[in-house]
Amino acid sequence: MAKLGRELSSKGIDVINLSFGEPDFFTPEFVKDAAKIAVDENYSYYTPVSGYPELRKAIADKLLRENGLNYSFDQIVVSTGAKQSLANAVMCLVNPGEEVIVPTPYWVSYSEMIKLAEGETVFINATVENNFKITGAQLEAAITPKTKLFMFSSPCNPTGSVYSKEELADLVAVFEKHPNIYIISDEIYEHINFVGKHASIAEFDSIKDRVILINGFSKSYAMTGWRVGYMAANKEIANACDKMQGQVTSGTSSIAQRAALHAYQGGLESVSAMVDEFKSRRDIVYALLKEIPNIKVNLPDGAFYFFPEVKAYFGTSTGDYKITNAEDLCLYLLNEAHVSTVTGEAFGNEDCIRISYAAAEDKLRDAVLRIKTALAKLS
Ligand code: PMP
Repeated sequence: MAKLGRELSSKGIDVINLSFGEPDFFTPEFVKDAAKIAVDENYSYYTPVSGYPELRKAIADKLLRENGLNYSFDQIVVSTGAKQSLANAVMCLVNPGEEVIVPTPYWVSYSEMIKLAEGETVFINATVENNFKITGAQLEAAITPKTKLFMFSSPCNPTGSVYSKEELADLVAVFEKHPNIYIISDEIYEHINFVGKHASIAEFDSIKDRVILINGFSKSYAMTGWRVGYMAANKEIANACDKMQGQVTSGTSSIAQRAALHAYQGGLESVSAMVDEFKSRRDIVYALLKEIPNIKVNLPDGAFYFFPEVKAYFGTSTGDYKITNAEDLCLYLLNEAHVSTVTGEAFGNEDCIRISYAAAEDKLRDAVLRIKTALAKLS
């Protein structure tokens, strides 16, 4: 979709891109300044594989300060983005044939990482009716003797769903009965949360030792290109991931690590300003999407995505276009409305599309109006 969108743009067509998975904000000035200073101070050598000790200490401090979680610095492994932290954990934990439970919709790379580890993915389908969240009973039903791992994100990409502490407790009660299952908790959207304090599944002491908490700087500090993410896990897993990473990439960029250190030392002011803006856009887009007939949309509590169900349009057509699935609909919206979105198929749900609101308010208003007009032509 991105490629097709670029092709249309290069022909002079005004395409509004709502397929982005990154904040449309700049990295805060104080973070950029820290990177410039790091260059001048010659932070140009290899770093320890797991990251500079000061950064790992700052991450442990952040986890205690903001999340009430106790980790020592040697339980933290800094990586080339949260993506590498996730891949490290999957590669280290999953043996061929073992099962990994993933609620759908899920972030695209989860299933591919599991494939690379030669694991089997077991999906639990969540739908718009239950705000795309699963229950303990659904989790219990998916567990088999081969289950090694459970993997999820909250706030979630692509749905924006946020699990409350009570909803997590429902899942934890199941994990307590199955002591051999590990849990990857992807919290990369932690701060982009409109319902108050973020709840982490690592807050439950009974299972904390089995939780691999993943977070990073990409979303909260608008630092996607800097490539700094991390995991917090028990020492055995942290050591295994350090070994794995040591043979693959070594430590991530020295300059980016110095910038990340200052991000965590510099407070949450820039983050709050960005989150306020995302919340205001969410409310605007939600009100506009609600006016479109035949789509089902819920109000997401976090991240910067909507994941409307559009299956009522499957089987419709106009002119040369025949809509049989979400991908057809995305292509139609791109060609007819000049709005780029992403098919839900990529996230394990064939009935939905993902709309990112990491775009300016006027663009968002225009885009949703264009979508509404294009959909009205289908019958
Ligand atoms: N997890 C989720 C749910 C994401 O959406 C993303 C980025 N799109 C990542 C992890 C990867 O983050 P990073 O850029 O830090 O590798």
